[in-house]
Amino acid sequence: MSQTPEYVILGAGVIGLTTALELSTRYPNSNIIIIAKHLPGDRSVDYCSPWAGANWLSVATDGGRQEGWDRVTYEKFGELADGKGNETGINKVPVRAWFDRDMEDAGVLSVEGEGRGKIWYESLTGLRFVEEEKPEGSVFGFECGSFVVDVQKYLPWLQGEVLKRGIEILRASIDDIQEVFDRFSSVASVFNCTGLGSYNLKGVEDRLLYPTRGQVMLVENPITPMTRMYFRSPQRVNKDTTYVFPRNPGGGVILGGCRVDNDWSGEVNMEFAEDIKRRCCALAPELGRPEDLKVIQHGVGLRPSRKGGARIERVIMGGAVVIHNYGAGGAGFQASWGMAKNAVDLLQEDSKL
Ligand code: FAD
Repeated sequence: MSQTPEYVILGAGVIGLTTALELSTRYPNSNIIIIAKHLPGDRSVDYCSPWAGANWLSVATDGGRQEGWDRVTYEKFGELADGKGNETGINKVPVRAWFDRDMEDAGVLSVEGEGRGKIWYESLTGLRFVEEEKPEGSVFGFECGSFVVDVQKYLPWLQGEVLKRGIEILRASIDDIQEVFDRFSSVASVFNCTGLGSYNLKGVEDRLLYPTRGQVMLVENPITPMTRMYFRSPQRVNKDTTYVFPRNPGGGVILGGCRVDNDWSGEVNMEFAEDIKRRCCALAPELGRPEDLKVIQHGVGLRPSRKGGARIERVIMGGAVVIHNYGAGGAGFQASWGMAKNAVDLLQEDSKL
C-alpha cells in the first residue's frame, strides 16, 4: 500500500472509477489511490451504480456543460463499444422513445444556447422521428443511436482498467473528508465522488442532494431477439417512466421503472414490480406476456439527484484542494466521461494557487 499518494479519489461508483481513469490518462506518472466503502460486485442501497439500467438518452437541455458531458461520453462509449464490445459491457443499440406530452412540454428541447428549441443530439445520434407502432396515448416518438451499458460487466471492467494502471483501491468508510488529509499528508488533491454519500460526509454535508428512487428488475432474455431499447414517458424526466433495456448478448433485459424524489427506501415493492412488468410488455412486444417473464433479480437504487445539477467544483479545505464530482442524478453513466474530464480539468487551476 502506497503511503504517499498524490491524488485520492473518494468513491468507486461509475463517477469515481471514471475520474480515476481520466486522471491517470492525463497524469500518467502520478500516484493515485481510490478509497471507497463499496466496490464493484457489492450491492447496497448506498451504492447507486450497480442498480442502473443503464443506457444513453440525454436528459440535458442546458445548451451548456451538461450537454457537453453527454456528448463526450457518447463519443467515448462509441470507442468502447467498437473496440472492445462485450468485454466492456457497452453495446451500441438504438433506442425507441415515446413521449405522451407535446414536444414543447416533454423536456427534450434545449432551453439555452445555439441549439435552443431543438433536440441537441439529433445529428450526433442520427435521430429520426417515427410514427409506426405508436402506442395509444403517445404524442410523438423518435429512434436514435444509443448505447446500453451492462453495469454488471462495465463496473468490474472499469475497476480492472484502474488496477492495470497501478491505481490502488482501499476499502474504507470515511466519516469526515478531513480524515483523508490526516491519513495521507502527501495528498495534493482529493476528488470527492461519493454520490449521495456527500449528504452525510462531514466537511461537505450537501443538503442540495436528494435521492430519486428507482425500481427495476432483470429478466431472462426472451426467445424473440431484441434489437432495440424502448422508453416511454410523459416527459424525458418524469416519475412515470417505463423502459426496456436488453443487455445483449445474453445479459438479460432490464425492466423499469420509476423516479420518486426524496424517497430513501431501498425496499422492493412487489406490487409495483407487477405494474412494471405490465407496462414493459405493452411497450416491447418481444417480451411476450407479463406472466411469462422469468425474473432473475429485483432491485432498487437511489439516484444522487441535486438541486441545480451535479456539482463539479474545486474548493480549498484547510489549505488543500478538493474537487467535487457528485450529484449526477439519473445521468451518471451517460455523463460519466464528460464529468470526469471536467473535474480533472479543474486540477490545472492549481497553478493559480
Ligand atoms: P455511487 O454509484 O453511489 O457511488 C458512490 C461511491 O462513493 C461508492 O463507492 C460509495 O461506497 C462511496 N462512498 C460514499 N460515501 C462514502 C464515504 N463516506 N466513505 C467512503 N466511500 C463512500 N444513469 C445513466 O446514465 N443512464 C441510465 O439509464 C440510468 N438508469 C438508472 C436506473 C436506476 C434504477 C438508477 C437507480 C440509476 C440510474 N442511473 C442511470 C443513474 C446512475 O446510476 C447514477 O447517476 C450513478 O450510478 C451515480 O454514480 P456515483 O459514482 O456518483 O455514485
